[in-house]
Amino acid sequence: MNVYDSARMADVLAPLGYRPVDQPDDADMVILNTCHIREKATEKVFSELGRLRTLKVQKAARGGRMVLAVAGCVGQAEGAGILARAPYVDLVFGPQTFHRLPELVARAAGGGVLDTEFPAESKFDFLPEEQAGQGLSAFLAVQEGCDKFCTFCVVPYTRGAEFSRPAGAILAEARRLIRGGAREITLLGQNVNAWHGEAAGGGGGSWGLGRLIRALAELEGLLRLRYTTSHPGDMDDELMSAHGEVPQLMPFVHLPVQSGSDRILAAMNRRHRADDYLRRVGRLRRFRADLALSSDFIVGFPGETDADFALTVDLVEQVGYAQAYSFKYSARPGTPAAELDGQVPEAVKDQRLALLQERLNHQQLAFNEAAVGTVMPVLFDRPGRRPGQMLGRSPFMQAVHVTGGDHRPGTLAEVRITAAHPNSLAGRLAGADAAVAAEGDALPAPEVIA
Ligand code: SAH
Ligand code: SF4
Repeated sequence: MNVYDSARMADVLAPLGYRPVDQPDDADMVILNTCHIREKATEKVFSELGRLRTLKVQKAARGGRMVLAVAGCVGQAEGAGILARAPYVDLVFGPQTFHRLPELVARAAGGGVLDTEFPAESKFDFLPEEQAGQGLSAFLAVQEGCDKFCTFCVVPYTRGAEFSRPAGAILAEARRLIRGGAREITLLGQNVNAWHGEAAGGGGGSWGLGRLIRALAELEGLLRLRYTTSHPGDMDDELMSAHGEVPQLMPFVHLPVQSGSDRILAAMNRRHRADDYLRRVGRLRRFRADLALSSDFIVGFPGETDADFALTVDLVEQVGYAQAYSFKYSARPGTPAAELDGQVPEAVKDQRLALLQERLNHQQLAFNEAAVGTVMPVLFDRPGRRPGQMLGRSPFMQAVHVTGGDHRPGTLAEVRITAAHPNSLAGRLAGADAAVAAEGDALPAPEVIA
């Protein structure tokens, strides 16, 4: 989401004459777009600010000026605290006010500007239609914020209440992304499958995500659709059945479960039990047998015992993940779980994380190895490191290296997988003329967004 937001900030600033650069050293403005989800991410912001302060001072010594801004969820959560701790920061704003950047930048001349409001207006109504291309694989925010209030999570406080963009606006943005070169679109939301936006076509009513995906799949030139992140409780039949019916919708779902223990899931306020999750996974796989899954896990949530943790490992064994993210519980200020008794010692969290990651890595390698010998469509997006090598993605999000043959970015080609590694696959084109869709031939060069 922050990658998408950063691209949109660049769009807002473009009419003012700003353009993205690769290095901050001589920039007129540096915006740190930040994450507050775990303490480690937040602390990084302050160390990075220290580094940028040096650049700012150096630029001032050369007679120039660097505006230093903190955007995103750390800006939202810490607000004035940032200006107090790092007074050389000119501008602090949150994820819902970056459409006001032109005005904020004008005010920043005086320094110390803060805008962490949750405005009544939606930023999406004010963002420019003109968008820099995101390249072949583009993000599109359809939903933001969250009303679920899992007890460990800052998102409802930093991103605000759940909000769904209207389908018409999403379809229009998708068309623009495709015109800008996108062949794959990933729909984004903190709870993307809770999306329920105003229907397109002016007839009134609302759609769910499954319906939206069916409408997006009709757009010419769009080869692949994905969506992330989903909540298990919001997986309805219309969405699950889309996996069996919409060829553009990739057979890979990121469906975070967090824990396999019902006691911990209840303490987390996740609103589902482990067996509800397993049933959803089973149902998804009935719609699409080869569907691959990914998840997020938190180990060491307050009160988590060895027995609770063993249930998480059991669930992992039952599902069989293609990939997953796992984290040590991080107490976040202002969240209910931070106040709970039974905070788990760091050493125990470390042990559990190592054990869980060992299982997950094993599953990821097994998933990759199972691909060897199969033929799958790969969407090429960039040259690999070695000469003649191209890099692309499998339907299941695996990175695939292919050497030889003629496969330009934007080409979707059938590839026979010849080797599996922990984090990637290798393969060769299946057949002499395997490009099934060479729409990529005339693609504009993707723009780089710093
Ligand atoms: N909306 C998504 C998750 C968004 S946050 C969902 O409901 O699943 C992304 C991930 O960060 C979460 O899935 C969780 O695993 C992790 N996370 C969030 N808060 C955390 C915390 N306090 N400590 C450790 N991990 C956390
Ligand atoms: Fe955070 Fe996701 Fe829970 Fe919302 S549903 S509170 S974003 S973990």
